[in-house]
Amino acid sequence: MKETIDRLRSEGLERIKAAESDSDIEAIRVALLGRKGEITALLRGLKDVDPADRPAMGAELNLLKVDLTALLDSRQCVLRGGGSATNMVGDLTLPGVPPTSGGTNHPLLSVLDSICDIFYGMGFTRDDGPEVELDYYNFTALNFPDDHPARDIQDTFYIDPKICLRTQTSPVQVRTMERNEPPLACIFPGRVYRNENADASHSSEFYQIEGLVVDKAVSMADLKDTVDTFVRNFFGAEEPTRFRPHYFPFTEPSVEVDMQCVSCRGKGCGVCGQTGWLEVMGAGMVHPNVFKAAGYPDDVYTGFAFGMGIDRIAMLKYGIGDIRLLYENDLRFLKQFRGVS
Ligand SMILES: [Zn+2]
Repeated sequence: MKETIDRLRSEGLERIKAAESDSDIEAIRVALLGRKGEITALLRGLKDVDPADRPAMGAELNLLKVDLTALLDSRQCVLRGGGSATNMVGDLTLPGVPPTSGGTNHPLLSVLDSICDIFYGMGFTRDDGPEVELDYYNFTALNFPDDHPARDIQDTFYIDPKICLRTQTSPVQVRTMERNEPPLACIFPGRVYRNENADASHSSEFYQIEGLVVDKAVSMADLKDTVDTFVRNFFGAEEPTRFRPHYFPFTEPSVEVDMQCVSCRGKGCGVCGQTGWLEVMGAGMVHPNVFKAAGYPDDVYTGFAFGMGIDRIAMLKYGIGDIRLLYENDLRFLKQFRGVS
């Protein structure tokens, strides 16, 4: 039996070296290790070997099986483009085949990074705050009246009456203003939470990025220019933007910012609901009550703030129709973003 094992080892090695395709590899695997393969037959025949020799023979056969399986796997890997053929077959002490499918940034992270880069280019710095936040910073300091509907238990995850999961990144504005004197130009990216049922456009957790500029004589024109610079740089086109009047408790006046639809150039299509415009962010001039809460004199400084959902921006940029795809970690989805930034 020893000679048979030696013969199978050298013949097997030759055949594996000569294999040129997946089907060659499979044919060799079946011929040697399949149910009716030669090595399988030898293993079955062990019971007829002299009991004194049986353990040694058994060990040899198993080693042969393990070695040939490794060689088959390596050769298959090489044939699929994973490394150099000369490195792989015959010398298992050489370095292994590098993985062909490396990791990649999550599309949300890529979008977040490129948004931040654009604002860094305009001179903004970045600040972060806690995701578990005091009700005071999440609402009161941002000029939410006590009876404001957004405080409703339906929308906010409360941990106790004074502590909640932040529903927006705006509380970081107040924390940053408390720690820093103007002039300020700062962005606050982060994860936020709402007590909502998940559907194609809602998730109970999502990402926002918020920006704040405070100085003497900051105006809405500065806000418009900042927004336009962002849209131009991020979407890579000269899309016009427009302001629509809106209401937020922490800004006055408040606007929603639309950008002309990138799919139809304003003509109207399914992406923009036939309006020709896509909502990009909310914005406005910082409310004097927010300055008061932060300890800034409201007769010296003015400022603007804006905030957008990173998920929404990612969905617009990549044409993603369902927000849940961004949180399900399905590799078939995520692998499409390899090398994308
Ligand atoms: Zn459109």
